[in-house]
Amino acid sequence: MFDGLLATVFISAVFDGEHIGQDKTAGTVGDLAFCIGSAQDLQELVNSMSVVSRVLVVEDERVLAGAVVNYLDRAGFDARAVHTGPDALDVAREWNPSVVILDLGLPGLDGMEVCRQLRIFSTCYVIILTARVEEEDTLEGLAAGADDYMNKPFSVRELVARVQAQLRRPRDPGNTAERTFGALVIDPAARLASVGGSLVDLTATEFDLLDALSAEPGIARSRRELINVVWGENWVGDEHLVDVHIGNLRRKLGDSAARPSYIVTVRGHGYRMGTGE
Ligand code: CA
Repeated sequence: MFDGLLATVFISAVFDGEHIGQDKTAGTVGDLAFCIGSAQDLQELVNSMSVVSRVLVVEDERVLAGAVVNYLDRAGFDARAVHTGPDALDVAREWNPSVVILDLGLPGLDGMEVCRQLRIFSTCYVIILTARVEEEDTLEGLAAGADDYMNKPFSVRELVARVQAQLRRPRDPGNTAERTFGALVIDPAARLASVGGSLVDLTATEFDLLDALSAEPGIARSRRELINVVWGENWVGDEHLVDVHIGNLRRKLGDSAARPSYIVTVRGHGYRMGTGE
């Protein structure tokens, strides 16, 4: 639709542009000054481009939100901040970010509830920020559909590194042939899973876990191995993160922890793929 140069100019417009009044965006690219029609035109243009990953920062502490957006901008992302729960859902719906960084303590709507509602329409990568150090908060956030978490206070640099790791992660592990485990069929190339012919709605993280386990059925994978594959080797935190996501995955597949068909717990170690029977 747009050639590379044009796309570059528009990306620069997003990063370097200044909003003038309500509906004009202007700025400079090198020596070239420009002014692009309405903000809505620009937004539609930006939405149509897949070149820059959009990151939505949901944080009511404005200074912190600004610092995170700033850092993400410099790292080459298209970042945007909102400060309330309802705004987060509105903007996520229209802007379709790849990643949402979500504070839990928010005015209007709690971050946990934002996460649950976000999951109804989005498979974006969600990192929750929690000032509450209690483990239950983290686990509850993951159960609500978040992919990862960071405890406050956190390093902005570390947060951005996690966003980068997620978006750079190759989603394609060598073997992409369809895999069947009883009623469960996994299509790694299309990133789809179905049980009894019905598609199962998985988040990117849930699919990656299923993909990692089913790629080598019968082989037990430790929690750390799964973290390395799904969250990256630099991920630091509580390895029980894996258990919460496995719990969500089992629930969606209709599998039971007591008598699992698909995902078998290997005590004191991790998980392996079951036969589907
Ligand atoms: Ca807060």
